[in-house]
Amino acid sequence: MVEDEPEMQQLIAVNLQQAGYRALRAANVPAAETLMREVRPNMVLLDWTLPETLGVTFARRLRGDQRTADIPIIMLTARAQESDKVTALDAGVDDYITKPFSLRELLARIRAVMRRCAPQLGDDVIEIAGLKLESVVHRASCGGHDIELGDIEFRMLHFFMTHAERVYSRAQLLDEVWGDRVFVEERTVDVHIRRLRQALAPTGHDRLIETVRGTGYRFRRNPG
Ligand code: CA
Repeated sequence: MVEDEPEMQQLIAVNLQQAGYRALRAANVPAAETLMREVRPNMVLLDWTLPETLGVTFARRLRGDQRTADIPIIMLTARAQESDKVTALDAGVDDYITKPFSLRELLARIRAVMRRCAPQLGDDVIEIAGLKLESVVHRASCGGHDIELGDIEFRMLHFFMTHAERVYSRAQLLDEVWGDRVFVEERTVDVHIRRLRQALAPTGHDRLIETVRGTGYRFRRNPG
């Protein structure tokens, strides 16, 4: 969420979190860009009127970058003119919500855009060996108990669970999980593998992540 008004940012973030999403916040475009070097969000909620760089300019920039071109964008704005909507849609945003809006409408539009733009995230629940992953609400659990994961660990687990039984090199994992190898070194993969294993250790699911010597990692359907 890129929003410069603190109250609005807080209000939306609290409601997103109550709805089961994890909301990452930025008050301006440079802060959003810094954040997105670390994390590739499933969606961007973007205010139009921001200091420094306008939201609509940022939308164009995201669309023009191969790494972020397919991230859904919903623009939030007080500008209700038809010409503004046309400008935003031409900049590549997927939906446009005029302030003031109801939070129920915002959540409904988020679900609709997710379904349309990221069907791979769907409402799908993946389950392997009792480990359950719900991608839209960003939740990993076992036997009804939540497993706390950082963003990278969650993305990594999601990738592993949708690509089980195949061996991936560190370079491939960087491409798939981080989406851009420019910013991260290969040994960073090991750091996050270690964190993921630690998070999964209490339920024994850490044993599903196998180190393949000299090659990389493989996620097993059954602990070996
Ligand atoms: Ca604003």
